[in-house]
Amino acid sequence: MNSALYPTYARADIAFVRGEGPWLIADNGDRYLDFSAGVAVLSLGHGHPHLVETLKHAAAAPWHVSNLFRIPQAERLAQRLVEASFADLVFFANSGAEALECAIKTARKYHAHLGAPQRFRLITFEGAFHGRTLATIAAGGNPKYIEGFGPPVAGFDQVPFADLAAVEAAITSETAGVLLEPVQGEGGLRVFPHEFLRALRALCDARGLLLVLDEVQCGVGRTGRFLACEHAGVTPDIAALAKGLGGGFPIGACLATRKAAQGMTAGSHGSTFGGNPLAAAIGNAVLDIVLAEGFLNRVVENGEYLTQHLRALKQRYPGVIAEVRGEGLMYGIKTHIPNSDLATAAREEKLLTVLAGDNVVRLLPPLTIDHAHIDDAVTKLEAACAHLAAPTVRQGAA
Ligand SMILES: *Cc1c(COP(=O)(O)O)cnc(C)c1O
Repeated sequence: MNSALYPTYARADIAFVRGEGPWLIADNGDRYLDFSAGVAVLSLGHGHPHLVETLKHAAAAPWHVSNLFRIPQAERLAQRLVEASFADLVFFANSGAEALECAIKTARKYHAHLGAPQRFRLITFEGAFHGRTLATIAAGGNPKYIEGFGPPVAGFDQVPFADLAAVEAAITSETAGVLLEPVQGEGGLRVFPHEFLRALRALCDARGLLLVLDEVQCGVGRTGRFLACEHAGVTPDIAALAKGLGGGFPIGACLATRKAAQGMTAGSHGSTFGGNPLAAAIGNAVLDIVLAEGFLNRVVENGEYLTQHLRALKQRYPGVIAEVRGEGLMYGIKTHIPNSDLATAAREEKLLTVLAGDNVVRLLPPLTIDHAHIDDAVTKLEAACAHLAAPTVRQGAA
């Protein structure tokens, strides 16, 4: 694989030429069931007719006009995001990390605006992932991503996962808020307990802190609710969205209450491409489907169906699968063997998955899958597990 691209990714040697719903077809004709969905991006699968139609129309209209002018598609998308969530206001960006940058800036500016500019620090959690910009690698706290890029951006204090006492102990006169993914994605599909999120909300209220959620991966219906925090009955002050919002088109959004965003006055932030007509048109088309009556209920139902099968698979292959965990159609399989062995064996069975931290293999199918696709995925996973468990079986027989 000789290529002029930066060698920053460990790419599989496969190139796809066609996509149909949850299927990807490689240049050699191999047909893969895509339970990676471009890392939770393809919320509606490949080539969804409504997205294709929308893109065709948007392609014939102005693609870009800049934020020097009104953009009706973006105004409509913002209004719909507000109506579907806790938020009053939305800022559009082009990626998850940029949505987080806006979220972090909004939280800092809130306190500065109220006369406390020294309150700029955010408390974060071990296992977090918030993106690859200088600020978001500092927020994520993973030394592998931080080292070699100069002094890390100041202002992030990391505490152990879901440890409320540690959060309390970390609060100082410089703390602006708390930042977390309700379901950690890259970190290994760890779900923050709902009681923890409720207690954290109460703590933030008591101490005048902003609760900032990174719903870049778990938001936009991935867990069966529009935002994952709804499972806990908790509303944040600020939330970042991206991945699933564009269904494959790059778009990010920072959502905030009017109160939390009060410092974000004219000129305080900006983006050349953010919320351009093309991206906003696609975002609206994704919401047409995700917010349609019954759609999220089907995600919940399919998630339960997938979970049942994964739990049964764990029973049958206890030497391979250590734990299954997640919410909705955001599931992780923690393995006893190296997670990449299971992902590779699954790929040989023509099932695409994504690796995560904590030795987890992630299943992030399009939200549009049905039982037949899940049955197919489980059959492929079973074959992969059988292949990997074979040596142990022989040992047991001997
Ligand atoms: C993917 C991801 C990001 C970063 O998004 P990019 O679009 O890659 O910048 C941030 N937070 C979470 C939780 C993510 O999963």
